[in-house]
Amino acid sequence: MIGDAVERSLRSPQVLISVDELFSNAAGSRMPDVRPDLLTDEVARRVVAACPTSALKIDEDAGRTHLILNYGECTGCGRCIAAGGGTFRYAEKVTRCGVSKQALIRSWDIQGRAEVVQDEPALSQAAEQIRALVGRALNIRQVDAGSCNGCEAEIVALTNPYYDLERFGIHFVASPKHADMLLVTGPVTRNMAAALKNAYDAVPSPKLVVAVGACGCSGGIFGRSHAVVGPVDAVIPVDGYIPGCPPTPRMLLTGIVQVLRPFSLRW
Ligand code: SF4
Ligand code: SF4
Repeated sequence: MIGDAVERSLRSPQVLISVDELFSNAAGSRMPDVRPDLLTDEVARRVVAACPTSALKIDEDAGRTHLILNYGECTGCGRCIAAGGGTFRYAEKVTRCGVSKQALIRSWDIQGRAEVVQDEPALSQAAEQIRALVGRALNIRQVDAGSCNGCEAEIVALTNPYYDLERFGIHFVASPKHADMLLVTGPVTRNMAAALKNAYDAVPSPKLVVAVGACGCSGGIFGRSHAVVGPVDAVIPVDGYIPGCPPTPRMLLTGIVQVLRPFSLRW
């Protein structure tokens, strides 16, 4: 019977996801995007009122009103899409992963009905050094600093035959001593803060840290708990942030790759 199952598996068509689809597809991410041509003051105030986190804000400065969307605080609940009357929709691309904390924030000029484009930060020194060193392999140690395990479920999916992370020369390792990168999930709980710092210290330099999920980026929905120190960067330096609650495997892989070359992938 097991022989039949193996034979069926071997005869099934290949289902490995293509690289193009990996880096350009926002399927399942539930991250919102804005149609600036439809954006009005009234819609902006409605979606801000509907947002259960502080991901959406209105900023008024020098007579201009801006709608601010911080992906680092967004849980992908979809309420802004329901309240936005067509102005908000699910993002078609979700490449804003593995970028700086500032780059997780998008801003639209409501009167001008246009997105405000940000300056691009330079590649971090660690990213430059690691890119020169690692060649065709990157070793990652994953650290759960207090996650609900939703992010871990998506990280585990990266190693299945569909996403097949190892085809890119990216491996998960058992010890931070063997790692080039820490992939950290969860808001950092008080009980895990020292362990996270120890894991960071054990990774040989140069090293990269990627904060995963709304919790890792901003503390997320647990951020104000008495048991939480804060987001990952409250305890150790972070080189790139991957938003989402949880981020999809596509977002994770995009972020892991992009942290080595920020802003080479765009919305
Ligand atoms: S999807 Fe994100 S931005 Fe929209 S309401 Fe939910 S948390 Fe706020
Ligand atoms: S970001 Fe969402 S899925 Fe990930 S640990 Fe936080 S609550 Fe769980």
